[in-house]
Amino acid sequence: MTDWEILRTGIEHAEHAIAVYRFIEGKVRTICISDGLYDMAHDKDEPDKAALLQRFDTNMYRNVPPEDAARISAEAKRFATEGGTYDVVYRDKVYGRETRSLIHAVGHHHTLADGTRIAIIDYMDLIQAAKAYDFSQLCSENVLRSFLDQSDLAMLVITKRAGELLYCNAPMQKLLRPVRNFDTGETLSEWLLGWEDPGMLRRIAALDGKGNQAVCLREEGEELILRVISRTFDGQEVYCIQSDPWSGLFCDVLTGLPNLSTFRRKAADTIRRIENSGDEPAFVYFNFYGMKAYNARFGIQEGDRILRMTANDLKHTFPEGYVCRISEDHFMVLAGDRELDERLRELTEQVQRNAAGSVLQLKAGIYHGALGAQPTEEEISRACDDARLACSQIRENARKAWNYYDADVQEKYQKQTYVLTNYKTAMKEHWIRVYYQPLYDMASRTLAGFECLARWQDPERGLLSPAEFIPVLEQHHLIGLLDQYILEQVCREAPLRARKGLGKIPVSFNISRDDFDYGDVYENVRSTADRYGISHNLLIAEITESAFSEAPERIREQIRRFHEGGFQVWMDDFGSEYSSLGTLQSMDVNLIKLDIRFLGAYAEEKKSGDGKRAAALLQAVVRMAQSLQLPTLCEGVETSEELELLRQVGCRAAQGYYLGKPAPLEQIQTH
Ligand code: C2E
Ligand code: CA
Ligand code: CA
Repeated sequence: MTDWEILRTGIEHAEHAIAVYRFIEGKVRTICISDGLYDMAHDKDEPDKAALLQRFDTNMYRNVPPEDAARISAEAKRFATEGGTYDVVYRDKVYGRETRSLIHAVGHHHTLADGTRIAIIDYMDLIQAAKAYDFSQLCSENVLRSFLDQSDLAMLVITKRAGELLYCNAPMQKLLRPVRNFDTGETLSEWLLGWEDPGMLRRIAALDGKGNQAVCLREEGEELILRVISRTFDGQEVYCIQSDPWSGLFCDVLTGLPNLSTFRRKAADTIRRIENSGDEPAFVYFNFYGMKAYNARFGIQEGDRILRMTANDLKHTFPEGYVCRISEDHFMVLAGDRELDERLRELTEQVQRNAAGSVLQLKAGIYHGALGAQPTEEEISRACDDARLACSQIRENARKAWNYYDADVQEKYQKQTYVLTNYKTAMKEHWIRVYYQPLYDMASRTLAGFECLARWQDPERGLLSPAEFIPVLEQHHLIGLLDQYILEQVCREAPLRARKGLGKIPVSFNISRDDFDYGDVYENVRSTADRYGISHNLLIAEITESAFSEAPERIREQIRRFHEGGFQVWMDDFGSEYSSLGTLQSMDVNLIKLDIRFLGAYAEEKKSGDGKRAAALLQAVVRMAQSLQLPTLCEGVETSEELELLRQVGCRAAQGYYLGKPAPLEQIQTH
């Protein structure tokens, strides 16, 4: 859904009286009205919203005295052309009454993600409201409390003199997210901050009678849309603070951070502030990797806790910047570039500490390029997009935590787009082919199998490696199509393998984590194998380790069926991510493939030392697997020395360039 669709659904069904307008070609057009406004404003001859919409566009002030109509249309024109807030009081007939009531209309502009500017205006029947909000008439505390509790407006009442809290209803608590309930006699700032901040009361006093205003209650805090009204209650002067239900659309209720549209409105000001302090602005897009698994493992509440902590860490890390939460586990910061890398390092380390002992990683993409002297909304949107792009491209890179937008990012993006527009053709035209890489048994030194790997031989761009297309297909949930295609090819080529004398050699194929979310993996494999008459014991499913941590139950069930169907299942890439030994123990697999990084670390250590530590680690992992009766295969053997190491530590099998590179079937040597 676009942000407009989300906003629209929120507004359409609001009980509060709200209308949305657009200024098109010098004319104000009504584009949406809430249920509440329809109830309030419709006449007898207007059976539905469409009829009311039409009147709003043609004869909006039908029931308004002419002198009021002239005044409000002048104000509406000023508001549409000059911006700022719209704030008028006029007389109008509402709720089908014959007498006129006093209406207070308050509005402001809002820019949608696609740049469209709309105005959101809400209407309040002051006469009715005055009755309802005249607390002196709500004689007992209980009546007042129940009134506040039932209101869908977020409401808070404090004394004018000291800011002492009298009431705060549930919607307001949700908006303010205090850490605890308030005690009677406590001030608002004590409750929200834990200490007395006279500034907060001053900021509230400044809003008195000004209609809806964006304000930060906490000095460095999030922006809220609040309205402050003075009242007397029990002889005490009080501020009644309200916020409309839709003000959540401007900030995020979970973290209290502003959302992206607020961010965009604030961006130009923030850029100016950063530049005035002598720094260059940088757009930093943050995304968590592993959040889904984290939630699955520790619960949504724990995930929410991490998000809230991150919101605080971001504000702490970028005190000069503007921080917003875009959605889910995505954040955006407009920051100064001073010591940016150091700050990002500290931040990502802090986040790892917050989520101690898990795979959760905060990654960032940075747009640190030129901006015009007066950056337009379009430029700001593009900078946000580029930062996001830079972030999305470090998905595959476990070690990197942030990435700057540059020409490489742009080029990679074009490649990704190429993959997405051409993958279907690539399969249909057999540009994508199966390459076979041999696997050897360590003890007998004989060929024990082949891993089937995808290669894309592009007529325009030459050979594309899986790293260039697999992650793209995974991100777009298209990998299942490729996996199915590869399996088909593998089965189709069985007679060719047999002709080469390889008919009894098993082949393993890769199954993506994503495949399990879309359809019945086992059933697809079984039916494909049977269609080609391939014996099940010659097909091995390689399932990547990360799949095991995310949906263990479902995966376990699938694995059980593979075994029952006579297929082997191997755990792929063990050690490439956070490895839960518990998972290993509870997963019924036939073999564990140790990730290439075990030997990579060994080779790296060998350059400057003896490689003892890396060898010891490998040994420990193999032993652990052995203790669970699980054989191991080690990937990435590139030298005879590495092969010797595998023999010493007791690996069952090996795979690597030293033993044979992946190659098309016709190039496979058989001897
Ligand atoms: P993988 O499943 O871990 O496959 C092993 C990768 O290690 C292959 O990379 C292989 O070429 C490479 N490799 C083998 N021996 C050596 C060595 O001695 N040194 C080095 N440096 N690399 C070695 P490849 O073919 O580029 O594939 C990369 C990944 O792409 C695979 O990792 C697998 O996760 C994925 N992939 C490839 N084909 C498919 C497929 O059909 N479906 C799915 N879902 N994933 C695939
Ligand atoms: Ca594999
Ligand atoms: Ca692997």
